[in-house]
Amino acid sequence: MNFSNSYLGLGSSFYKKEQPTAVQAPQLFLWNSQLAEQLLVSNDYQQDPITLAEIFSGNRILSGSEPIATAYAGHQFGNFVPQLGDGRAHLLGEVLDQYGKGWDIQLKGSGPTFFSRGGDGRCAIGPAVREFIMSEAMDALGIPTTRSLAVVTTGEPVFRETVLPGAVVTRVASSHIRVGTFQYFAARGDFESLKNLCDYVIERHYPELEAESPQRYIKLIDTVIEKQIRLVVEWMRVGFIHGVMNTDNTSVAGETIDYGPCAMMGVYNPGTVYSSIDRMGRYAFANQPTIMQWNMARFSECLLPLIDTDSERAIEQVQPLIVEFGNRFKQAYLQMLGRKLGLIAVQPEDEKLLFSFLNCLELGEMDYTITFDRLTKSLNSEAISDQIKEAFGEDYDLWRLRLNQQDVSIEEIYQIMKHNNPVVIPRNHHMEAVIEQCETTRDVTKAENFLKVLRSPYQEIEETSQYQDLPLDGDKYYQTFCGT
Ligand code: AMP
Ligand code: MG
Repeated sequence: MNFSNSYLGLGSSFYKKEQPTAVQAPQLFLWNSQLAEQLLVSNDYQQDPITLAEIFSGNRILSGSEPIATAYAGHQFGNFVPQLGDGRAHLLGEVLDQYGKGWDIQLKGSGPTFFSRGGDGRCAIGPAVREFIMSEAMDALGIPTTRSLAVVTTGEPVFRETVLPGAVVTRVASSHIRVGTFQYFAARGDFESLKNLCDYVIERHYPELEAESPQRYIKLIDTVIEKQIRLVVEWMRVGFIHGVMNTDNTSVAGETIDYGPCAMMGVYNPGTVYSSIDRMGRYAFANQPTIMQWNMARFSECLLPLIDTDSERAIEQVQPLIVEFGNRFKQAYLQMLGRKLGLIAVQPEDEKLLFSFLNCLELGEMDYTITFDRLTKSLNSEAISDQIKEAFGEDYDLWRLRLNQQDVSIEEIYQIMKHNNPVVIPRNHHMEAVIEQCETTRDVTKAENFLKVLRSPYQEIEETSQYQDLPLDGDKYYQTFCGT
């Protein structure tokens, strides 16, 4: 791996130089060999789990890597915290993959830093495994996300509500720049750093905006909004609930980041919340677009001083983007729903039918994934078609009529639906069973089997059926916890 670290060039207000704290007995637990190939991890290392464990626990720092903990702020559940930062993570540096794309390599759980605020800087095996599996599942589903290269167990206990095995997860991301990174400098009135950050983000993520000056910052807001809309629409396509959409967990590159309390919605219910700390349902399934709009408002506020020195004039330019968010989201959301139901282009008159389908799902307490899979299969099976028709009544006939009006074959429609409706998702009860096995036996078999199936989310393989079952209690009592 050839490390560089362009983030260092931004200056010392952006980070603290920090070394990971060595762990007692690192052991490679999960390894993502496909991602390792992409990242050009040398074959010598790939054959050598002992060396990999040393590198990806933080015990051994490769030459060229200069570990840092990055500074950021953030709104947590709506409350502003002016300084958060990497309290248990080290950015090892950036590497180029085989396609020339740059990636941050970050260790999480690698020891305390300047930003730890009393935390131990460590991570338990459960949250590390959850992040690895969930992010790989999301990637396979085609949803922008950070990736996971490795989970290494540390041989040390971490003390949470109980004593748990410790682990370090290696996160691979387009970058770790968050809305909270902008807030950190805006809150300090450090507009020079803020401008440098914006220019850095444009150069690194949105180079097409370079030519846009003096409009580049407003365009940056517009582009980041577009990315976030696409992201949340994609979450909602598969029933993903992020669970902790704080501004420090909102990546300006538009990737899903931070898999702490995330979960998958089973039965379709817009109000679904699983996170134990989200008592008000702020981050409920159907609230995600509104929260993203709120996060984008916070992002835009940071950029106002760069857009115009006269704040009224700056607001005048930015406000329409925030006001329009709702409509813009709705259009993207309707197109997505349309694709789930085989519509090539959603027309305004389709809206009623699309929402009527969702309403039926909700009233009938139907499983989101299974129902759309059955609707897909109903195109090619009279038996399934007859069954599912009972659930949707005349809407089903209206839908089939609408499909027939399209100028394409049923086979083509079937393909569109197949590519938008997964046959399997990382269901919560399976995720928990896998985590429990990792915690108690340190046996990776269940995790590897789960990953194999999740890497083929649109195509049933032999083992898929073992993961399609519904939880016995309908996840009524299911709760997730922040991975701290
Ligand atoms: P998160 O809930 O993972 O988004 O983290 C929010 C903030 O808490 C970040 O600044 C983290 O670095 C910090 N944090 C979370 N867990 C720990 C820990 N075990 N030790 C130190 N800092 C932590
Ligand atoms: Mg976080």
